[in-house]
Amino acid sequence: MKKAVVLLSGGLDSATCLYLAKSQGYDVYALSFDYGQRHSAELEASKKLAQIGEATEHKIIPMDLRLIGGSALTDDSIDVPDFNENGGIPVTYVPARNTVFLSIALGYAEVLEANDIFIGVNAVDYSGYPDCRPEFIEAFEKLANLATKAGVEGHKMTIHTPLIDLTKAEIVKSGTQLGLDYGLTVSCYQADEQGRACGQCDSCKLRAQGFQDAGLPDPTRYV
Ligand code: ZN
Repeated sequence: MKKAVVLLSGGLDSATCLYLAKSQGYDVYALSFDYGQRHSAELEASKKLAQIGEATEHKIIPMDLRLIGGSALTDDSIDVPDFNENGGIPVTYVPARNTVFLSIALGYAEVLEANDIFIGVNAVDYSGYPDCRPEFIEAFEKLANLATKAGVEGHKMTIHTPLIDLTKAEIVKSGTQLGLDYGLTVSCYQADEQGRACGQCDSCKLRAQGFQDAGLPDPTRYV
């Protein structure tokens, strides 16, 4: 079986990505980051999802991004907003997060002799984040092939973004068809310790709208 590294945050998108990679016949190596995010519920969710989604291995890399801060998710002095007030890039953007995460995933893939990395970025519902754009992914894939021994020796690295053009509704439909229990995923930016969602933040609203648009029951546990 072909091996793939799947970035798994514990949220709805990355969980769908894991199930899609499995459905495409990949042997999945899940990768999560303990980066100082506001709550640990997301990481607990990633553990359950890796297990239930039958990942061969699940690694959680400790990396304290609070030391650089600069985001509502990694700095307690910046509040998580209920909605994106200024219409620009929201304060929940974590500086360079996907570049950092993909870099570690690239190293892990090289060690595993895997040529495929899956990331659940989505340009439709998260268009504010520069590192969720197709242009960014293309550029990173180019870098991946220049930067690694595997790439230089002709083993082409591919960054897969199966969700990039999908709406939230399309994402939850595809995961549901694959048997994914979205009740296990945590998307909320400020979930409590049990993983219950606030129902107020941008991420909660997008997620709830997705289930509604898909005509599926919302299994999210709210506070
Ligand atoms: Zn929320």
